[in-house]
Amino acid sequence: MKLERYRVEVNGIVQGVGFRPFVFKLAQGLSLKGVVLNTSGGVVIEAEGTTEELEAFVSRLISDAPPLASIDTISIEKLEPAGYGEFSISSSIPGISLNTLISPDITTCGDCRRELFDPADHRHLYPFINCTNCGPRFTIICGVPYDRGNTTMKDFVMCPVCGAQYREPADRRYHAQPLCCHDCGPELVLTDREGKALTDPINKAAELLATGSIIAMKSLGGYHLVCNALDGDAVDELRRRKYRDEKPFALMAGDLDIIRKYCVIDENSVQLLQSAAGPIVLLPKKSASILPKQLAPGNPDLGVMLAYTPVHLLLFSKETGKKTECPEILVMTSGNKSDEPICYEDEDAFNRLKGIADYFLTNNRPIRTRTDDSVIRNFRGKEYFIRRSRGYVPAPVTIDRTILPADLPSVLALGGELKNTFCMTKDNRFFVSHHIGDLENIETLQSFEEGIEHYKRLFDIKPTIAAFDMHPAYLSTAYAQTLKDIAMVPVQHHHAHIAACMAENNLTGDVIGVAFDGTGYGEDGNIWGGEFFTGSYVHFQRAAHLQYFRLPGSEAAIREPWRVAASCLHQFGYKLDLPGGIAAKKLSLVAEMLEKELNSPLTSSMGRLFEAVAALTGIKTVNRFEGQAAIELEHAAAGKIGSSYCYSMEENGNNCVIGIKGIIDGILADIAAGIQPGAISGRFHGTIVNMVEEVCCRIKREKGLNRVVLSGGVFQNMLLLSECLDRLELQGFKIYIHRKVPTNDGGISLGQAVIAMARQSNF
Ligand code: ZN
Ligand code: FE
Repeated sequence: MKLERYRVEVNGIVQGVGFRPFVFKLAQGLSLKGVVLNTSGGVVIEAEGTTEELEAFVSRLISDAPPLASIDTISIEKLEPAGYGEFSISSSIPGISLNTLISPDITTCGDCRRELFDPADHRHLYPFINCTNCGPRFTIICGVPYDRGNTTMKDFVMCPVCGAQYREPADRRYHAQPLCCHDCGPELVLTDREGKALTDPINKAAELLATGSIIAMKSLGGYHLVCNALDGDAVDELRRRKYRDEKPFALMAGDLDIIRKYCVIDENSVQLLQSAAGPIVLLPKKSASILPKQLAPGNPDLGVMLAYTPVHLLLFSKETGKKTECPEILVMTSGNKSDEPICYEDEDAFNRLKGIADYFLTNNRPIRTRTDDSVIRNFRGKEYFIRRSRGYVPAPVTIDRTILPADLPSVLALGGELKNTFCMTKDNRFFVSHHIGDLENIETLQSFEEGIEHYKRLFDIKPTIAAFDMHPAYLSTAYAQTLKDIAMVPVQHHHAHIAACMAENNLTGDVIGVAFDGTGYGEDGNIWGGEFFTGSYVHFQRAAHLQYFRLPGSEAAIREPWRVAASCLHQFGYKLDLPGGIAAKKLSLVAEMLEKELNSPLTSSMGRLFEAVAALTGIKTVNRFEGQAAIELEHAAAGKIGSSYCYSMEENGNNCVIGIKGIIDGILADIAAGIQPGAISGRFHGTIVNMVEEVCCRIKREKGLNRVVLSGGVFQNMLLLSECLDRLELQGFKIYIHRKVPTNDGGISLGQAVIAMARQSNF
């Protein structure tokens, strides 16, 4: 029988995910001889056997790969046999493993869940059980190569049982770096706010939650603030202490049936909830839900996740001998005060949260990188990100080489000001960072700078190009100015939005870009945000935009949509007459600002127009959190769009200005006629859909472009998004939306990176 030797190179997420033991078992099962080892690019396998055996091996390598592995490429070289006597796992070659990918943190796997509740298992009820298929990764990694000494587990010395499993190639825990047990691993501690420890942490914590306490709980990427979601008083108290009066709270349940009790849930959302990433999934709440309204005031959706660490599982479990059961559904909101970044270091958490939490459920496994829960929804059968963080980062967005310049320079893109992420590129991999947050305080800025250094080391990247937002006052822009020996590429905010969406869809060539959001610095120095572009990565042209209106009080107008409503009234000659009890003094002050054009920048922002309409109709005049008025306006329409108001289209050179006077006139006439705010919202949504359709058709006639790219935070509005898609589809357009990064500013670092790469290489 003729033997052959295959050298198989596998690239992707194939280290730290049990890939080598999998290869070992597969090869042994097929009686192949050879070797498997980690290399800089991934994993290399040499295998000897008959052609038939080798072909079976390769096909099962792909089909049966471990759940956390993600194979990017696989290449096979056929060689003369080398006469291997056995199949073995060779240790990684030290020092050259810098190119590998790092796995995101993964929810506790099925095998570990079974063992957790198996009285015969070595790790029965152990709150930090994990294996090569699950557990902490990115959040505990301090450096590369990925081995225990470079994680926050470095000070835990493995006991003989763990050590044996760690070294046994056939074991599920072979080279599982966070491996540990009762005897040798981290310990759970429950303390009161004076720091005094209480016994039986899990069962006591369950009892405390059931009786109305608020607990600060350490999770994978940071602390949560936790209370009984069914207890309205506890929820109110948490809101009061956290200074968060209306922003929705995320919830956690132990199993799917509990979520089904409170939310309407489809098959795709089930998959998202149960996925290895374990994100918060936005779901419509059931109309008969008995959950307290104050969990998500004025919002028909709830953000829900399933228990994703062993601590969560133990808390909800009925098998730990609890005297008092844990509430079946818990508030699990970020551990911070109002808009500060979430706490992740124990001492800092204790200091910052002791005024909010009654108790602390914590442990001595340090978190290296703060990572917020991801937030996602199912949109037409696929994921649509609101926030891409824990469970997804630091896996890169891989972009087709054909749409990128051949030399693939390394770019550091610094993102925007709000919902900041940065992005670093290596080859055709775009490492979009975890959610950093709003760059408006020292702490967030520090984690931004520190995060950039961490990514540079982890992925061995030395960027030669820095991409940043054109806004002169952004902290990310200021940071860019401090960088040395690096090419600087400023990028317009909405161009970055469109480029991000183009890139993740692997588009090249000119498209129609529709970028609707709240704020972005425009090339004319005004605040843009209701933009139609044509172009691609290197160049873009403004083809149409909303008519400018003023933001009296600038930032204050973002917090207080009634100011924008007043501005629209003023612009079109109406009396400043607004619902919602705005003090006459404030109104006259705003009138004066508008009259004198003081601190009232011009904007074409679609987000602000949505909020102005919310204020005009009395749906919401003041935002308690970013974008609230626009969200409530969407929900007021209850999924129905109405007939369009009038808007005008005025040519201005190549650019078309979309006049909004007709919209304001129409809304005021409807209000005067006693039309309900919900119906007005429906008509307003219908107007914007018409506008998108008409402008895109017009550009198509003029430039022959047939692909439309939708991006920007306003497209988190599901009513607007679905109606735009349907309408554009009827017109024969090919439409692209975000699926890999958020449509909001969390996605722009990706777009900045692609634009900078293309421009610098003159692609
Ligand atoms: Zn152990
Ligand atoms: Fe934006």
